[in-house]
Formats: sequence, structure tokens, C-alpha cells
Amino acid sequence: TDLFAPGRRNSQGLDLTDAGDLLKIETARADARDTRFEAAPLLAGKAEGAAPTPCRNPAAPEDLTGTLREATPRDVETALAAAAPWDAAPGIRAATLLRAADLYEENTGPILALLAREAGKTLADGVGELREAVDFLRYYSAGIVDLPHPAQGVFTCISPWNFPLAIFTGQIAAALAAGNGVLAKPAEQTPLIAAFATRLLHEAGVPTHALQLLPGAGQSVGAALTGDARVAGVCFTGSTETALSIRRQMAAHMAPGAPLIAETGGLNVMVVDSTALPEQAVRDILASAFQSAGQRCSALRCLYLQEDVAPAILKMLTEAMQELRLGDPWDLATDIGPVIDAGAREDMATYIATAESEGRLIAHLPAPGSGHFIGPAILRVNGIGDLEREVFGPVLHVATFRAGDLPKVVAAINATGYGLTFGLHSRIDSRVQDVVGRLNVGNIYVNRNQIGAVVGSQPFGGEGLSGTGPKAGGPDYLRRFTRPGAPLGAP
Ligand code: GLU
Repeated sequence: TDLFAPGRRNSQGLDLTDAGDLLKIETARADARDTRFEAAPLLAGKAEGAAPTPCRNPAAPEDLTGTLREATPRDVETALAAAAPWDAAPGIRAATLLRAADLYEENTGPILALLAREAGKTLADGVGELREAVDFLRYYSAGIVDLPHPAQGVFTCISPWNFPLAIFTGQIAAALAAGNGVLAKPAEQTPLIAAFATRLLHEAGVPTHALQLLPGAGQSVGAALTGDARVAGVCFTGSTETALSIRRQMAAHMAPGAPLIAETGGLNVMVVDSTALPEQAVRDILASAFQSAGQRCSALRCLYLQEDVAPAILKMLTEAMQELRLGDPWDLATDIGPVIDAGAREDMATYIATAESEGRLIAHLPAPGSGHFIGPAILRVNGIGDLEREVFGPVLHVATFRAGDLPKVVAAINATGYGLTFGLHSRIDSRVQDVVGRLNVGNIYVNRNQIGAVVGSQPFGGEGLSGTGPKAGGPDYLRRFTRPGAPLGAP
């Protein structure tokens, strides 16, 4: 059950340590090992679609995952002209979203196959992501009864490739739950998962005028869908830079009050003091920095170790890192899959090489030769202030601090302007209270890892440059998709 909708339960997911469950999953996804999936504009009117282009597996470029037909400018116009709020009664909307959640679970096999083959997700990550998507559908469905205000109209939802199912679904489910229509523009890298999910939502009963899919580039399709007066608001997850350009685009073309709900980047820190349990800290550091190949906006970027325990923890950390298996995400033994594309791989390879030439490389695992792999790396820095940007991959920066300097560390974190996640390993209660109280950070985790926020229990979202709020998977989220200025009970 959860904190905000008592009685509602999160999806149970699948237990990968249970041989029966594991066999079930393996059999289900094996059927979709070689399937060629298709993505194309899914519109209320007739779609044109650009010429098909091949989609490839980031772990194995010879694996053709499917074909993509991007939305053309004419498709964008068709979608904008047909888009309309979802005018079904609240009870119908709630039941439809619940049906979609069940359909997602019934399609576990192809969904896990797609998450591995299109987004490079390991089985554990895939199972977690499917659960989160299902939880969003059920959580927002449960929230419909509490909505006092009417829908805004039509929302453009622009989703990222790092959670191509969960965040894609969460944005859409929230907009639809509140009664809006949706124009969905998935990340360029993951259109196949988006198209698969959209078909399930349509099959569940979401009408096509209320949900249209427009795969394509941010510069063309995304810009058109965030710069049109027929759109009432935008929901976006991605980089801070893109959020700011969407804001400008909206200001030039949309109503002054049009909401932008954005979840953006972070420069996330973990502090480990000398009272922390080293084994636990090391396990949580590895998960926070390297799970999902570091491609989570919640991921740990800069670790601060208290000076007196730093050598021992760093030794344990680099040794434990050697045990991580980098490779094909389809393989059950794999801990870390590829990064999303060649551009990401090159960016990080250059970044790590620069640090190495400056004598700051502490450890770096070798990567397989083919596929977009980058070995996890640990680099030395003086502090969070040295990070010029969010490096979105398996790269961990490490700094040390003296016990008396903790307030300076806190000030340096706040000075970045970002505030998404923060982790603290300490067994001094007063220190925990003090640090937590001073940070402008959305999600703070104590004595555990700092990724994997759970819908309904850990609403997720940041402060400052990390997002606009409200938090996804929390009680305030749906209201932002409604029109609070409208009189109560207005249509
Ligand atoms: N909600 C995810 C987590 O807690 C991160 C979402 C993101 O990367 O955008 O790990």
C-alpha cells in the first residue's frame, strides 16, 4: 500500500531470485528475441510518415530491432488539428488506465525484450521499469477521484530515452487521468517502445484523439509541438538546457499561464562519513553510480568521503567495481549494459581520457569492443564545484572532506543550483538531521542507495535547475495538469 492512496498497492513485479519467476520471464522474452518492431506516427487522422529508417540495438549494432517512420510536418498538423481533451467520465478514465496497466503486465515478454534491445536495459532494470510504468498507471488512476478542477486541454509530453517506458507512460497517464488530450513525442533513441506502449493504451480504450504519438526529432517535431497555441501545456523530462529552450518556445507561442512540468538534470552527491558502515556504503555507491550504466538523472555523480576513512573505502570500492560485469543486457550475468548511442560513448570516452591525462583517473574497467559500451570509471576531483556539467553515464567523481568541513560541502552542493538527489551514509542522527535540513534537494536518501524512487512512496523530482515540480508519483502531480483558475465543477 502507499502513503497517499491507502489501499492501493504497487505492482509486485517479478522475483529474479526465484527460479520459477525467472524461467517465466526468460520464456516470455525469448519469443521477442528476433522480433522486428515498428514505430510510426499514431494519429487520430491519416498518418503520412517519413521513409522508414532502421533501429539498432545499442549493445549489438547488427541486431536490427525494427524500423521507424518519423512524423512529417503534415503529420504534426494532422495531430494538432485532431487533438482534443479526453471527455470520458472520470470513472471511465480510471478504469481505462487500470486496463492499460493489466495489458502492460500481460505483455511483459515483448516489453522486456524491447527494453533490452532498444534501450540496453538489463533484465533487473527492465523488470523495475515495467513495474514503475504499471505503478504510474494505477497511481494516477487512483488519483482521479480527488481532482476538483477540469482538464487544461491538450498536453505535449516529451519523454527521455533513459526510462522509455516508465517516464513515457507516467507523463501520459497523468495528463490523461486529469482529462487532457496528449501529443506524445518520445526520445529519438526509443521510438519502438513508445509505439508499443501507445498501442496498448489505445487497446485499453484511450481514444486516438486523446492520445497521438509523434516520433521524430526534438528540433523539428518537438519544437512544433511546444510552439503552438492549440497546446495548453507541456510535460518534459530531459536536460535542463532543453527545458529552458522549451520554456522560450512556449513563451513565444502559447498562453502566458501555460504550465511547463519539467524534470531535468542533476549533479547528485553522496556523503559518506567515518561512522558509515563501509560494506553497505560501497554497495550503495556502486548501485547509485553504475546501475543502468549511470544513465539515470538520479544517479550519483560526486562522492564525498571523509578523509580518515577515504583510503579504505576507495580500496574496497575499486575492488568491488572489478567484479561488475559489463556486456549484453540480454545476458542474465550482466550488471551493466551499453550506453544509449555512439555519441554518448564517444563523449564519455573523451571525458575519461581527459581526466586520465590530468592524472585524475583512479579506476576504469575495460569495455567490450563492439556495441556502445563504456567501462565504469572513477575520477578524482576537489569537489562538486569541479563538475562543469552532468556527465550522463557510468562516471563517478570522488572527493574527500574533513569532518569540520561538512557545512562547506553542503554549501557547495547548494551552490550548483541543481537539487535532484542526495545520499548520506552516517550513523550520527543529529548530523543527518542537520545536513538534510540545509540542502535544497528534492530526493534525499539516508543509509541506502539514491536511485529507484518508488511511485506513491517516494515522489520524485528536484529543486532549482533540476525541475519545476510537482513530483512525479506523488499526491500533487495530477493537479498541475488541471486548471486551478477554473471555477469548481467547470467542464
Ligand atoms: N525516478 C528514477 C530514479 O529514482 C530516475 C528518473 C530519471 O532518471 O529521469 O532512479
